[in-house]
Amino acid sequence: MRKQIAAANWKMNCTYQQGEDLLDNILGANIALADHRQVVFAVPFPYLIMANSEVADEPNYFIAAQNCYNKKSGAYTGEVSAEMLHSIGIKYCVLGHSERREYFQESNKMLAEKIDICLEYGITPIFCCGEPLSIREAGTQNGYVETQLKESLFHLADSVISKIVIAYEPIWAIGTGKTASSDQAQEMHAHLRSVLAKQYGPLLANNISILYGGSVKANNAVELFARPDVDGGLVGGASLNAEEFIAIIKALK
Ligand code: PGA
Repeated sequence: MRKQIAAANWKMNCTYQQGEDLLDNILGANIALADHRQVVFAVPFPYLIMANSEVADEPNYFIAAQNCYNKKSGAYTGEVSAEMLHSIGIKYCVLGHSERREYFQESNKMLAEKIDICLEYGITPIFCCGEPLSIREAGTQNGYVETQLKESLFHLADSVISKIVIAYEPIWAIGTGKTASSDQAQEMHAHLRSVLAKQYGPLLANNISILYGGSVKANNAVELFARPDVDGGLVGGASLNAEEFIAIIKALK
């Protein structure tokens, strides 16, 4: 079975103490994870080392960075490299979140570079894609998201594509309380998998986890995650509440 992943995206929230308490509360629930299930916490940079030590003895719990730079090292004041993340034992990195694309002008090409550098350092990218409302209303979302995949991922060899996790996050559903219906999510996830299958063959495409993101909550996670091509979620707002996120972890297939 493909990996089923509940990924928390804290974004720019929580003080150090609040973050530590949140992790303690979630880990304190002692949810044992079967081998095909994983929980990932994407936390702000200053909390990575603390968070990584919190999950050190918890099998199948991992910490992610929320971003890294598209250069390996050098005179880039304020930036964080994949090598730095690797040097503190970080295994995942969220890349291409729509907020990064919108507020920091991250292009598909820049994201392709970030993906290559992460893979070089053994960090699994959680690659985000998704269309804005205007594209959904025009009905051209399939092509839009396909282009994001092509321009950022399709230079990868067969041997590495299966190391990527994809998160489909329709922008109109992020932080709006407006979740895509489970039909809309399934339809897009199946489309993404068919695009991957065309490029890499069905075997590899079937092994790639595709998470859904956009107003995932305790009360809709079961229905969303039950769909055949939805392999868990990337969760913003609801991941800041221990009880909500525990329920979302329990909703994994
Ligand atoms: P949300 O955010 O769950 O608050 O909609 C999801 C995300 O942006 O990853």
